[in-house]
Amino acid sequence: MREVDVVVLGAGIGGSVAAGLMSREGYRVAIISQDAGTKNHLPESWDYKPLHRITNLGSGEKILSTLKKQSHCCFCSADGRRSVEMTVTDVQNKIEIGDLVQVDRNQFDRVLLESALEAGAKFFPMSTLERCEISSSGVATCISKGGELHEFTSSFIIDATGKRAFLSNHLKLPTREETLDTRVACFSHFETPASKVDGIRIVAIEGGYLFCIPISDQKLSVGCVLAERLVDLSASPEKIFGFAISLSPYVTELLAGAKRVLPVIPAKNTQKICLEPAGPRYRLVGDAAAFLDPFFCPGIDFALFSAEQAALTIEEDSALGYQRAIMDWLEESKRSVYQKMENSEWGAIMRLFADPHLPFTLPLMLTQAFTQIVGAEIPLNVGIKAARRAYDLSSY
Ligand SMILES: Cc1cc2nc3c(=O)[nH]c(=O)nc-3n(C[C@H](O)[C@H](O)[C@H](O)COP(=O)(O)OP(=O)(O)OC[C@H]3O[C@@H](n4cnc5c(N)ncnc54)[C@H](O)[C@@H]3O)c2cc1C
Repeated sequence: MREVDVVVLGAGIGGSVAAGLMSREGYRVAIISQDAGTKNHLPESWDYKPLHRITNLGSGEKILSTLKKQSHCCFCSADGRRSVEMTVTDVQNKIEIGDLVQVDRNQFDRVLLESALEAGAKFFPMSTLERCEISSSGVATCISKGGELHEFTSSFIIDATGKRAFLSNHLKLPTREETLDTRVACFSHFETPASKVDGIRIVAIEGGYLFCIPISDQKLSVGCVLAERLVDLSASPEKIFGFAISLSPYVTELLAGAKRVLPVIPAKNTQKICLEPAGPRYRLVGDAAAFLDPFFCPGIDFALFSAEQAALTIEEDSALGYQRAIMDWLEESKRSVYQKMENSEWGAIMRLFADPHLPFTLPLMLTQAFTQIVGAEIPLNVGIKAARRAYDLSSY
């Protein structure tokens, strides 16, 4: 039997940050995770905003090394013969608060976990939860690891199991769920013989698109987003994925000889918020508390914020304080999404494409780009109209 102060379930962003902060405050923390602490995450976007206490974890420089500002994307037709490339390079390469950055999630998560372990947290990887009981006297957790059972007693438990939301299901906590999108999406990872794709590629297919995102020199993530009407919804994710790939000769050729290294994973298209993310001895953080619409990219921010609040309110023993902070954050995040879009640099970039003081040059490029992707002649006046519309939309 191991006696600790806090058991943290999950070694993603939420779990590692909560564990790191609590360990630094002198709590004895055990992180229990079903994986080895290494993941197969795609790069994600983050509106860079290091929180005060997280910066104090002492990994600021290491965290910065996992972030990139430059982004490159190639949009192409199903056969790969027509394409348009877009690169956004920030000439002033310094990352500042509020910048939208690309996060190497594999390294980012590793840095946060290492930081928690340096602060004294103990890590139990590759563990399966067998039992978890929360009572007024404490929390009893039992895991199996390598065929052996390990028992823990603790004063608190933090659930950071991501969208699996272990504790919320286990305690049957009330949740609010909304469907986000009626399209079907799934993805998998492949080992390619050599790196055949040099950046993100979005491939247009009938009724949707495929994405190819290099994860490393040898690994490629490929996914599809398809209209529901094109898919047999009772079919397995493998079948749906295979069908989508067959719609693009270019991606079919790209994956010829590639080894699939993950099952085909269907992407969740619901948003799920737990209405009781805190109780006398527990806190839910990150996706386990609220799985949010990834389109607006708030997941990293929320995992960091909720982990910080969990650590703070455990110290203050205030479940209500946590609940309030989480609900306020969610409300504020809804409000700020559109504001962020309006204020983003993208508005300025769109304006460049359509500036009426640059007659024809940029609308012409836009028309040519559309013509290349669609593979049919688009009249210049349609391109100009699209450019003017983009200008109007981005000019407030
Ligand atoms: C398609 C997609 C795109 C996204 N894009 C973005 C983006 O661009 N920007 C952004 O900010 N967010 C994005 N997100 C959201 C972001 O990935 C999550 O919000 C973030 O990973 C949440 O971190 P977390 O620590 O809560 O959970 P996770 O990172 O999922 O970590 C959960 C941990 O718990 C462990 N675990 C699970 N179950 C158990 C169990 N029973 N016992 C023990 N351990 C367990 C897992 O192994 C893992 O270590 C995206 C999400 C999706 C699905």
